[in-house]
Amino acid sequence: MVNYKDLGLVNTREMFAKAVKGGYAIPAFNFNTMEQMQAIVMAAVETKSPVIMQVSKGARNYANGTILRNLAKGAVEYAKELGCPNPQIVLHLDHGDSFELCKDCIDNGFSSVMIDGSSLPYEENIKLTKKVVEYAHKYDVTVEAELGVLAGVEDEVSAAESHYTKPEEVVDFATRTGCDSLAISIGTSHGAHKFTPEQCTLVNGVLVPPPLAFDVLHAIEKKLPGFPIVLHGSSSVPQEEVETINKYGGKLDAAIGIPEEQLREASKSAVCKINIDSDSRLAMTAAIRKYLAENPSHFDPRQYLKPARENMKKMYIHKIVNVLGSDNKL
Ligand SMILES: [Zn+2]
Repeated sequence: MVNYKDLGLVNTREMFAKAVKGGYAIPAFNFNTMEQMQAIVMAAVETKSPVIMQVSKGARNYANGTILRNLAKGAVEYAKELGCPNPQIVLHLDHGDSFELCKDCIDNGFSSVMIDGSSLPYEENIKLTKKVVEYAHKYDVTVEAELGVLAGVEDEVSAAESHYTKPEEVVDFATRTGCDSLAISIGTSHGAHKFTPEQCTLVNGVLVPPPLAFDVLHAIEKKLPGFPIVLHGSSSVPQEEVETINKYGGKLDAAIGIPEEQLREASKSAVCKINIDSDSRLAMTAAIRKYLAENPSHFDPRQYLKPARENMKKMYIHKIVNVLGSDNKL
């Protein structure tokens, strides 16, 4: 048993309470590699922002859970070395799909877990979530649950169609499960292809996707005042990164994300955690493709991973300062 407190990590309780009150959102960045971890920590330290480093089941399969936990421990030490004496870093399991996986993470240094029972019938979702909450709270680990279904593909999570969260269910669900935060579905989706061009409107040559269902968000806020709400699938898919990828040999067709103005708007509400994964993948891939195309004789991974890390850091800082508003909140 490794308790997260011994690693210098924190759970989400206090930071969410402050974020809901303060009208901003905490960034939840997925990571699989050392370079992503370094970029996340550098960005959080430079902007004095709390941060959630999250690991999906796919990340655990790719990098190994023990290595990721030690990277998170290293992240805390690294933040201190960079001049941040009391960093607020959460190690979170993204889309836990069973009690056993959540328990394994809780037992191995995670400070927060998500149990995603959103594909189950309502009563089964409650039963599973409650079981995880009861175990997690024994160790002061916070739990994110999900109601409603997001479309799209993310690692091993996929759904063809989205179903908005039903505001009439949220009080019953939150009360009976005891969850600490709730991921809802209001039109965001997983992956870099969130919308087809047919779903978008062409404004000044740019494809603008349909707006998020703010009416559903506000109805949920009314039912659960002050309760922390989470948005998944909230990458914006910056078109300049998509263009760079395509310019240097990539082939990404019609990759469309959530406009940042809408995420900024959502951050001011009870939404206090916004998940961003695809934007980091795009920033990394764009920088690597460009570097290798321009320097065909180079083969030292450090040469192309350095600009990749820089590009991710730039993106993380932009999100923190210009979209989520979590800078200077330590
Ligand atoms: Zn997700």
